[in-house]
Parts: sequence; structure tokens; C-alpha cells
Amino acid sequence: MFINGESVDSVSGERMEVRDPATGEVVGTAPKGTAEDARRAIDAAEAAFEPWSETTADERAKFLFKAEELVHAAHSELALLLSREQGKPVSEAMTEIEHFMHGLGFYAALASKVRGDYVPLPNFPNKGAYGMVLRRPIGVCVGISPWNFPITLTGTKIGPALAGGNTIVVKPASSTPLTATRVVELLNQSGLPKGVLNIVTGPGGTAGEELISNPKVRRVAFTGETKTGRHIMEVAGRDFKRVTLELGGSDPMIVCDDADLDRAATMASVGRFYNCGQACLAIKRLYVFEAVYDQFVEKLLGKVKRLKIGVGTEKDTRIGPLHNDAQRREVQEQVEDALARGGKILAGGKQASGFKTTHFYEPTLVVDVPHDARIVQEEVFGPALPIFRVKDIDEAVRLANSSIYGLGSSIWTRDLAKANKAAMKIQAGVTWINSLHYGYDELPFGGVKQSGIGREHGPEALDYYFEPKSVVYAGLM
Ligand code: NDP
Repeated sequence: MFINGESVDSVSGERMEVRDPATGEVVGTAPKGTAEDARRAIDAAEAAFEPWSETTADERAKFLFKAEELVHAAHSELALLLSREQGKPVSEAMTEIEHFMHGLGFYAALASKVRGDYVPLPNFPNKGAYGMVLRRPIGVCVGISPWNFPITLTGTKIGPALAGGNTIVVKPASSTPLTATRVVELLNQSGLPKGVLNIVTGPGGTAGEELISNPKVRRVAFTGETKTGRHIMEVAGRDFKRVTLELGGSDPMIVCDDADLDRAATMASVGRFYNCGQACLAIKRLYVFEAVYDQFVEKLLGKVKRLKIGVGTEKDTRIGPLHNDAQRREVQEQVEDALARGGKILAGGKQASGFKTTHFYEPTLVVDVPHDARIVQEEVFGPALPIFRVKDIDEAVRLANSSIYGLGSSIWTRDLAKANKAAMKIQAGVTWINSLHYGYDELPFGGVKQSGIGREHGPEALDYYFEPKSVVYAGLM
């Protein structure tokens, strides 16, 4: 762990093993932090808060730019470690580290662009009365991230928190603590004052519970499962901590009859199967217009059959293992439920054999599934995709909206009027038109319905790391 400017072990001395999902080999160990360790980190962040909040935005930006450079120098080393502890192909791990760096640079640049408001107050008894709305840092923040994108999703918390003058304690998932700890250590080498950025590793049920319930913490940013998010909101809500939640998704992709079918098929394959399908914003339901259904599905099938399953560190691997066996079993059960309800397999549909662990699953396409099947109504966090025929855009949007989730969505068409209509009607935090998420930082990202509350990315994310403070000048006496 990294607390108060130093690399430390847990108070108990206990450690957790981290295993490579592809081989089962131990990649390393990390301290098994407890509530006591979390308290140490929170106390350090609290002590560091006041002086850090008084630094200028330029000073904070300098640290973040320097941190970006340090991560850049360790890019390949970090990507390899990330691939080994998470399971993703090294090329995807390289991209993840790039997104992380881009985010640091984005918030470094934004730190000095923060503006407040000047508001005349004409109904005051004195002339010239006005108010100012300042944006003040909140205090000690906590960032909790999942195992699917351990680095980017830690970065979405660190960048805006530090740029805004807050201090932070982050906690990665217990199965992916290694790269995140190394990154926090590197970031601290930028000369950050001690206690400004800390990392605690350890189980959510102990270290995590302390982070979300400790009264010194004023803000919790969480990415993970909807169920965990509900619990975090309840606990953090007891003393009204500021909370943002980035939760599960079941993103619909709509392919219209006038779409560029080749490109749409390529992107459907990428959008569903990168990170072995374990992405909140992966395409999880595909709605294709009847007129082009057969043609499109054939193209997609050709691409999916060429995806090479393998160990993440092997050069031509496109699909690595699922992160753990429970996750593989869950996807398998969701596919089996679809088949029991009349669904048919076009590709995949079973565990991939010939590997050292049971975590591999073939990229799977399923058709003729009723819309109330588990594979449609639940989040499928793995490489399986149900495909549906739709007659027109109204039916596609209606089905797209029949989900408890509302994170991402996409529409593929050459007709911008149709695309705009769908973008207005789809219940989601974002609609991509002939596109998917490319890891940009410029726009806010987050969910509606049970996909979460609040936004990460974009200048908007900074708003969640400030409290608006009104200061009133009474005017001329
Ligand atoms: P979890 O919710 O299981 O865990 C996420 C993090 O929360 C981990 O660090 C975990 O620690 C911690 N945690 C668990 N219980 C508690 C607790 N009681 N108090 C505090 N912290 C706790 O999610 P997964 O790791 O399984 O990640 C997959 C999920 O993340 C999917 O549902 C996916 O959709 C979602 N996600 C959402 C994104 C978005 O932007 N909307 C982006 C990416 C993923 P530990 O590991 O020790 O249990």
C-alpha cells in the first residue's frame, strides 16, 4: 500500500495472493488491509488536505503533468503487469494505461480553467450588492474501483480529485491491486506532498467498509456492480457524503438498414468482445433492422470466428480469459438460460478448452432469444451477445429502453435525422452515432436508471469534486 508518502505493509502483516487468470500462477502479493489500515490512510489524507487545498491550480497541474510523464516512462512495464493480473491482452493493457495518462493530462490542464460566478443582487437594501459563487474543494475523497479496468477507473477519480484541491484514498479490487499500487507509487514520485494520494489494498468488506463509513471522508466515487453501489450509497448516505456511482450496463446497439454494415459489424465485434466482454459499456444487446439482418449477421459471424482466444501476454491474442471462474460460470449460465428458452447458438456457446485455467469462454452469438431471458435483462459481463431482428427504429428504441440499465447505447445509420431522434429517445447516459467509446476524456460519462448517479470524465467530473460556496457582499452602506 502507499500511505502518507511511504510504501507500507498492512498493520496485521497479512497479504493477499494475486493470480494470473490465464495460468493460475501467482503474479504477486499485496497487503490485506483492514479497517485500521484504511483509517491510517484517511488520517493521512485529512492531515494533507488543508495545505494541498491552498496550493495554486498551477502547482497542482505541475504535479499531475509530472505524474503523467512518470507513468509514460513505465508504460510497457505497467501494461505487462496489468495484463498478468487482470488477464487482458497486453495491447489492451497498453491502451488502458494511455487512457489513464490522457486523463491525468486532461485534468492537469483543466485545473487552472475553473471559474466561479459573479451575481448582482438587485433586491438588497443597499446599492451594489453582489454574490460570488466560489468552487471549494470538498476534503478527503475515496475512490473505489473494480477489476475490469483497474487503472483507467482509478484515474477517473484521482485526476479530478487532485486537480480540484482534494486529497484522496483509492482502493482497487482485491484481485487487481498490483498495477494500481505501482501507479500510485509512481504518481507520488512527482513530488506530491505526502498524504495527498494514498492507496489501500484489502477486501471491500473490511477496508472498503471503513472507507465508505468513516466520518472524515466527505466524498465517495465508486465504480463497480449495481448491488455494491446500492450498499455504498446507503452506508455513505448516513452522514451525507457526496457519492457518485458508475455501475452496470446493458448497452444496446441499433443497426439500421442504411448503415455501413462492414464498419458496424467490425465495431460490434470490437465493442462486445474487447476485455473479454467485461466492460460496463460493452455492447450487450444487438438490434438489427429486418431488411439487413441476414447480411449483417453473416458479416459479424465471420469476424467473431476469427477472434483468437489466448493468454493475454501472447502477441496475437484478441480474447483473454475471464477474470475469474465465477464470472465464466455466470456467463455460461446466462447462455444456457437463453438456450433453454428457445435461443440458438450461432458461434461459441461453451468454455474454451486447452488452457491451464477454466476461465476461458468462446466468443458467443445467440439468436431467437425471448426478451425476458437472463442474457437480455441482466448485465452479461463476458463474451456473449444476443441478436434481435427489429422492423423499424421505433421498435428498436422501445426494446433498447426495456432494461433496468441506461449507460451507453449506439445507433448505426447514414440518416442523421433518424440518429438524432434515437439519441433523444434512448434512455442512456450516452448515445454514440456510428461510433463507440474510444477512451476520450472530453465528455461526461455515466448512467441513468440503475447504471448510476453522477458523471466521470469531462469538465463536468470536476464539479463533483467541488462544493459551490456563496459569498455575499452587502453593497454600499
Ligand atoms: P464490485 O462491485 O464487486 O467491486 C468493485 C469494488 O468495490 C472493489 O474494489 C471491491 O473490493 C469494492 N467493494 C466491494 N464491497 C465493498 C464494500 N462493502 N465497501 C466498499 N467497497 C467494496 O465490482 P466488480 O469488481 O465485480 O466489477 C464489475 C462491475 O463493475 C460490473 O457490474 C461493471 O458493469 C461495473 N463497472 C461499471 C463501470 C461504469 O463506468 N459504469 C465501468 C466498469 C465496471 P473487493 O475487490 O475487495 O471486493
